Amino acid sequence: MSNQVLLSLGANLGNRQGNILQALQYIRARADINGISSFYETEPVGHLEQPKFINIACSLETELPPRELLSFLKWIEKRVGRRETFRNGPRSIDLDIIFYDDLVIDDDGLTIPHPRLQERAFVLLPLAEIAAKKIHPVLKTSVAELLKKIDHSGVQRLKRSLRLRLDQDRQQSKPAVPVPLSRVGITNLQRIIRIEDKGRGNLFHAHLELFADLNPKQAGMHMSRFSDVLEELVEEISLQASPDIESLAEQLAKQVIKSQKAVRSEVRIRAYSSIARVTPVSAKRSKEVYTLIGMAASSPRETRHLVGVEAEGMTVCPCAQDMVKNYSRELLQEEGFSGSEISRILNILPIASHNQRGRGTLLLGTTRNIRAENLLHIIEASMSSETYELLKREDEFFVVNKAHRNPRFVEDVVREIIRNVVEIYPDLPDEAFVLAKQENFEGIHKHNAFAEHFGTMAELRQEVLTGRKSVHHTTLEEWLNV
Ligand code: ADP
Ligand code: MG
Repeated sequence: MSNQVLLSLGANLGNRQGNILQALQYIRARADINGISSFYETEPVGHLEQPKFINIACSLETELPPRELLSFLKWIEKRVGRRETFRNGPRSIDLDIIFYDDLVIDDDGLTIPHPRLQERAFVLLPLAEIAAKKIHPVLKTSVAELLKKIDHSGVQRLKRSLRLRLDQDRQQSKPAVPVPLSRVGITNLQRIIRIEDKGRGNLFHAHLELFADLNPKQAGMHMSRFSDVLEELVEEISLQASPDIESLAEQLAKQVIKSQKAVRSEVRIRAYSSIARVTPVSAKRSKEVYTLIGMAASSPRETRHLVGVEAEGMTVCPCAQDMVKNYSRELLQEEGFSGSEISRILNILPIASHNQRGRGTLLLGTTRNIRAENLLHIIEASMSSETYELLKREDEFFVVNKAHRNPRFVEDVVREIIRNVVEIYPDLPDEAFVLAKQENFEGIHKHNAFAEHFGTMAELRQEVLTGRKSVHHTTLEEWLNV
């Protein structure tokens, strides 16, 4: 059962705002605060030889009954550093229960509504901000009416700010070293983004990076609150649903150009989500986590974007498998099998090797609408076998067997991805960009094996279809250099 409570908070010793904020933080451990007034500064009442007070009011919902709430508040007063003084004396924090639902209590040590609230402008003024219509259950008068009856000239509303001098913006002034910067931005910004897929809004946990190349004349000179601007922009745009991750990246990149008058911007998003999968033999449903990648670069003239995925799978080492095969051949020879028998046997039986988990990445830069989910399957098909979060024994056997029938090095995986893209998307234009990358977490080493290949569709197509190496391979940076 939840009760509506109004509190009055005051402080006049030490870091007064800090004490109030600290008290609010403690209060939140047992209550949901749903309204907080502005901060007010008040001349001391009664005992006048003491510093001014800061007062606020807050409204909250709590399950604590009145007495327990009072003890909890007294505990907070102690924690925030209140020492016993005298009534109306200086204190680092004072927490008073003003109203508790419409309860009327008048006991030793607890009076609700607070007995002196109608005399206190420093209680009524903040309170009127968040609960003007609240009716005093004894006086049958609203907070607004009570406030009208008293003089509140000694209570001043404070501007919401810490005592910082914000008038001189450091980023507006000349830097000590007058070097213009090419790329400025934010990294590791985490947000929940919303992607609308076939009419269903899916939420993704995402990491974002946003950069801008500023106009050389302005670079590093007038970057007023640049990271704030970028953060706000992400806040605004990521709340709305995007059709796909690359559109979101593109929208952000364009917005950076617009709002910062930058000559170029770049946005990179990595989002984590799961898709439903069915295991190969037992047809059990499971969820696989993978990473969606969206990138965009923008200039006042042009915008480009990439879509991509990162997914894990399994690879089996062809080299170790060959060694095992040769060893098996010798054993069979010693047992007296003939050459043709040995070849037949070795073709029928699976051959052992070491295997490892690998992580593949595929990026595709094109204006064509390509679904990241489809790229996921290209990566998986390019490894020795896909893997599953959940496997029944027959599925496990399927994966092990499939992987050992498809031994692949990291280099092979990358070549497979490139070949698959070229053959699966013959309609992609020449200027489209492809990047494939594979990293294997080696089973018999402590280090990882790595391979990568990239280029435009024209460059890669020539290599796959004719076997001739392209003279130039366009890099991701070159392709994004709009
Ligand atoms: P005040 O808040 O009036 O400036 P104190 O903070 O010194 O005075 O409070 C004195 C006592 O008043 C507290 O120990 C507490 O037990 C009692 N008290 C009675 N009613 C209330 C109430 N509604 N809220 C907070 N304290 C109350
Ligand atoms: Mg008190």
